[in-house]
Amino acid sequence: MSNPSILILPGDGIGPEVMAEVRKIIDWYGAKRDLVFDVSEDLVGGCAYDKHGTPLHDDTMAKAQEVDAVLLGAVGGPKYDALDFSVKPERGLLRLRKEMDLYSNLRPAQCFDALADFSSLKKDVVAGLDIMIVRELTSGIYFGEPRGIFKEGNERVGINTQRYTESEIERVARSAFELARRRNNKVCSMEKANVMESGILWREVVQKVHDTEYPDVELSHMYADAGAMQLCRWPKQFDVIVTDNLFGDLLSDAAAMLTGSLGMLPSASLGAPMANGRPKALYEPVHGSAPDIAGQGKANPIACILSFAMALRYSFDNGAEADRLEKAIETVLANGARTADLLGEDGVTPLSTSEMGDAILAALDASL
Ligand code: NAD
Repeated sequence: MSNPSILILPGDGIGPEVMAEVRKIIDWYGAKRDLVFDVSEDLVGGCAYDKHGTPLHDDTMAKAQEVDAVLLGAVGGPKYDALDFSVKPERGLLRLRKEMDLYSNLRPAQCFDALADFSSLKKDVVAGLDIMIVRELTSGIYFGEPRGIFKEGNERVGINTQRYTESEIERVARSAFELARRRNNKVCSMEKANVMESGILWREVVQKVHDTEYPDVELSHMYADAGAMQLCRWPKQFDVIVTDNLFGDLLSDAAAMLTGSLGMLPSASLGAPMANGRPKALYEPVHGSAPDIAGQGKANPIACILSFAMALRYSFDNGAEADRLEKAIETVLANGARTADLLGEDGVTPLSTSEMGDAILAALDASL
């Protein structure tokens, strides 16, 4: 049988820096765990625009459709701010998500004990936190038609349309229920059914999928604004949250901050199963290309490494090795290793990006 395949798209800014550390981890798995991946690498975002005049070349798109998992660093940067909307670096990422039909975006918010003091919330509110936000990713207001800026009489009007079909809601609901069964068996669905018809349909469909296919999972519904409040008040009440594209964008960013730094947050975007049973999948850190620290060796590689741990779990069905990698990161943090973004005022010398990667490799070695 051939090795599982991974396409690496480091992207722009700190993307290549953090991805270099993931490459070391992938190599470690090949050398020490006999888990060999066929890895190829290509361009996305601003660097792809520089070379091809487009943020995602058709050949790269075709490769992404063939591999078992895509790992992406980050795209964008001030150099590309003035580009036309159609060729902005982010369009490369949006094209990947759309054409791979990655409708289910998994964003864990997990608080490592060693970093509990780092949250803006009180330690007892976040210590041990482990929740998963499932955001619908390919539909809703970011894609609905009509959209645009139109002339209406003497003034312009900006229009976006929130639109969901039943099948779009069903498939992301299933993904959330499946995930809940592997976790603590609880799903909270969030919308604004009080003021939006799309929210009424969302609630009805999630309830129907629950009643007919997942009656064993505990389901609750919450208005998204109340959900935002509850996430800040007592986030540990949640296990899996499922919500639409727009609310998921906001709620997952808010939940992310409960855990401290942007440099710690992984994500997975999953689509329908391929012929080999694996879901179409793209793994990426939540953070952007961080132009303010790019090229300085300051970036925290943990978000990107945790994204690879998610790939081990969700694409390569290897929860044991994903656990090993997450545990290695936990150990390194518990021993006091910190990149600059994780430092308080206590005068500890920060590790560089590659020193953090090396510390994680050493913890992996020690786990054998
Ligand atoms: P950002 O996430 O790049 O940076 C926000 C802040 O967090 C910065 O101060 C940065 O230094 C810090 N930070 C981010 N990741 C870090 C890491 N791994 N280690 C240490 N510190 C880290 O967001 P931004 O500044 O709003 O955007 C910068 C560029 O990235 C823009 O061009 C934006 O469009 C793009 N962007 C891309 C993605 C993506 O590729 N998925 C996501 C968000 C933003």
